[in-house]
Amino acid sequence: MSSREAVTVIGLGAMGSTMAATFAAAGHPTTVWNRTPGKAAGLDAREAATAAEAVAASDLVVISQVDYPAMFDSLADADLGGRVLVNLSSDSPERLREASAWVAERGGTLVTGGIMVPPPGIGKPGAYTFYAGPEEAVAAHRSTLEVLGRVDHVGTDPGLAMLYYQAMLNIFWTTLISYFYSASLIGNAEALRPYVATLLTDLAADGPMGFLRIVTAEIDAGEYPGAQNNLHMQAVGAEHVVQAFSEAGLDVTVPGAMSELFARADQAGYGADGLTALVEMIRKSS
Ligand code: NDP
Repeated sequence: MSSREAVTVIGLGAMGSTMAATFAAAGHPTTVWNRTPGKAAGLDAREAATAAEAVAASDLVVISQVDYPAMFDSLADADLGGRVLVNLSSDSPERLREASAWVAERGGTLVTGGIMVPPPGIGKPGAYTFYAGPEEAVAAHRSTLEVLGRVDHVGTDPGLAMLYYQAMLNIFWTTLISYFYSASLIGNAEALRPYVATLLTDLAADGPMGFLRIVTAEIDAGEYPGAQNNLHMQAVGAEHVVQAFSEAGLDVTVPGAMSELFARADQAGYGADGLTALVEMIRKSS
C-alpha cells in the first residue's frame, strides 16, 4: 500500500496520459478516466468505468482536457463533495471563474492551472505550472502537484492561472512565429538560428541589448524615452520589413500587423517617444 496521496486524472490526451504516468511513477496510486475508453493501456493506473467513479476514487482530481466545457460534460453526474479539482486545461479567464462557481455549487473546490511545459517536460527540471484558487487547497496538495513541476500559486482569483498562462503563451507563439517569418525570408533557417539564439539570450541579459530589463522599467514607470531610437524611425523601419516580405512574395500578416501598430502610434503623436509607447496603443484598443 503506497503512503503517497491517491490521485485521479481525468483526460488522457497527450498531457493527461503523461501526467498520469508521472504520478504513477512517483508512487501515487492513480485512477484515470477518459471520454473515449481504452486510453489507459500501458499506464500503471486503474481505469475507472465512469468519470463519477474516477472522482470517487481520490480526494485530488487532476483534469487535462481540451477546454472547460469538457469538464462540465464529463463531471455533470459526479459527486464533487469534498473533492479538490485541479484543472490544467486551457480556457479563458472568465470561463475559469464560471467553472469555479460550478464546482463550488456541487460541493467541490476548483484550483485552476496553466501548465507551462509540453508532455515531454512534465515532471522534469524547469517544469512549472501557474495555479490559482484557494490557498489552502493548493497547500494541501502541493507535494503531489510538485510531481508535475514547480507550483507557482499566483492568486486566489481563479482566472489568474490562465491570465499568466496566456501572457506567456502569447510571447511563446509570437516569438516562434516571428522566427518562422524571418527564416522564410532568409530561406535558410539554420543560417539565421545562431543570430536569433544570441538575440534571445541577450534580450534577457544585462548588457546593452538587455531590452527586457530596460523596457520593463519604462513600462512600469510610464516613461517612454525615445532620444536614442524614436518610434517614428521604427515605424518607418517596420514598413521596410513589410516591404521585404512583400518583395520576397511572402505572407505579411504578422509583420503587417506590427507595422500597423507602429503607424497608429506614430499618427497618435508618439513618434518622438520610444518603442515602449506602444503600450499606450495596446491599452487604448481595449
Ligand atoms: P489532446 O488533444 O491530446 O487531448 C484532449 C483531451 O480532451 C482528450 O482526453 C479528449 O478526450 C478530451 N476531450 C475533448 N473534448 C472532450 C469532451 N467534450 N468531453 C470529455 N473529454 C473531452 O490535448 P492535450 O493533452 O495536448 O492538451 C490538453 C490540455 O492541455 C489543453 O487544454 C491544452 O491547451 C493544454 N496544454 C497542452 C500542452 C501541450 O503541449 N500539448 C501544453 C500546455 C497545456 P477523447 O480522447 O475522448 O477525445
